[in-house]
Amino acid sequence: MTSSIDTVNWADVQNEVVSILQGLLRLDTTNPPGNEIIAADYIAELLRKDGIEPTVLESAPTRGNVVARLKSDGSAPPLLLMGHTDVVPAEPDKWERPPFSGDVVDGVIWGRGATDMKNVVAMELMVLLLVKRLGLPLKRDLVFMATADEEVGGKYGAKFLVDQHPDLIRAEYAINEGGPTSIVFGDTVFFACSTAEKGAARFRLRAKGAPGHASLPHTDNAVLHLAEALVKLGHARLPMHVIGTVKGHIEMMARHLPVDQRDNLIRVLSEDPDVQAEAIARLPLPDSGKRRMYASLHNTVTPTILSAGSKINVIPGEAEARVDSRILPHQTQADIEAEVRAIVGDGVDIEFYEGVSRGLEANWDSPLFHLISQVVAEHEPGAVTVPALITGGTDAKSVVQLGTQVLGFIPMRYEGPAMSGLAHNHNERVSVANLLFGTQIYFDVVSRWCQRA
Ligand SMILES: [Zn+2]
Repeated sequence: MTSSIDTVNWADVQNEVVSILQGLLRLDTTNPPGNEIIAADYIAELLRKDGIEPTVLESAPTRGNVVARLKSDGSAPPLLLMGHTDVVPAEPDKWERPPFSGDVVDGVIWGRGATDMKNVVAMELMVLLLVKRLGLPLKRDLVFMATADEEVGGKYGAKFLVDQHPDLIRAEYAINEGGPTSIVFGDTVFFACSTAEKGAARFRLRAKGAPGHASLPHTDNAVLHLAEALVKLGHARLPMHVIGTVKGHIEMMARHLPVDQRDNLIRVLSEDPDVQAEAIARLPLPDSGKRRMYASLHNTVTPTILSAGSKINVIPGEAEARVDSRILPHQTQADIEAEVRAIVGDGVDIEFYEGVSRGLEANWDSPLFHLISQVVAEHEPGAVTVPALITGGTDAKSVVQLGTQVLGFIPMRYEGPAMSGLAHNHNERVSVANLLFGTQIYFDVVSRWCQRA
């Protein structure tokens, strides 16, 4: 197998991928409204310069998507490199540099989208251009898509392509954004490759009671009934469900940890809720990491909006809470309804919103996952890649409708807490070193995979 080091001038590639990313960051694709057509046109122009004819598709005026393909001999199924070009809003006065500047300062590139996920789009595009320039003989088509609207659910982006143009993007595997790029466990750093994603099952909880004059209080008050149900829900531990990805995540990390940490991590899988809670509390992780571990093993229910009553001296007949619920892969609306019912009892109504989405899971123990871990270890000796679950949602939920196995993998070295957790945050930025590191890893993964039957 030809090594990437021999065939590519990586100093030139570094300059080029930085410049591609700067160009993307300078385009304001804040969603809403999105206006991703400017990013689609920009990418299309870069593709044409290298003789790749892109397909630009507008799902609605200004909602631009771009797809490109390098043809193979067709002896094996395609690989899809996927990314979104929209970004979440930024508050410029909270930033040290303007969020659409694309400034490079001391080896760091600044801008909204620098980690979510114009960085990935730039790296994937760079890899596509390199594979084309090198004229590699491919056994699998290499497909690239940069889509609109991920941050608002993907209706004008990935979902539009899946519904309207499935043949353009159908693939066996896709590489997508992931959850955390790395997991810092005590003194040990793991690379994360997301192979599962939770679904969402939002519902209303509604309590009824006897209306009346507030000067004559009684206990059949809808507000009290609802409050009691919410307190129970808030303190309950829902049943544990161990999916393959999370079992693999925990067991693989455990194998590479010091013995005391290893034993404690394994106890996180205990069927005894008290043993599990204690083990999670003792993990050498920040609070957010502990909550993520819990959420990886349970469906979650989080009340977020309350409403009842319209006048202070009237006892309302009804009170309502809206609850954001995230369900694990393989769980259904009926499953989470039964879990909630067991906690709140029969006194309140549970009414699900339309559009419950199932979680999704690829087989983590797959040839592409193993190639990724091998390439990571070559570039970062001793580094271990572990499967992981995304507790939120990405465009993967649309792409899996085509039977595609989606792996969420952003190869970035851990550069300390100040450079972590920057997605959707102020001062979003990425280092030039990591952009090159990620491009090299993507290149090795993609070029080897697409030349393999
Ligand atoms: Zn994203």
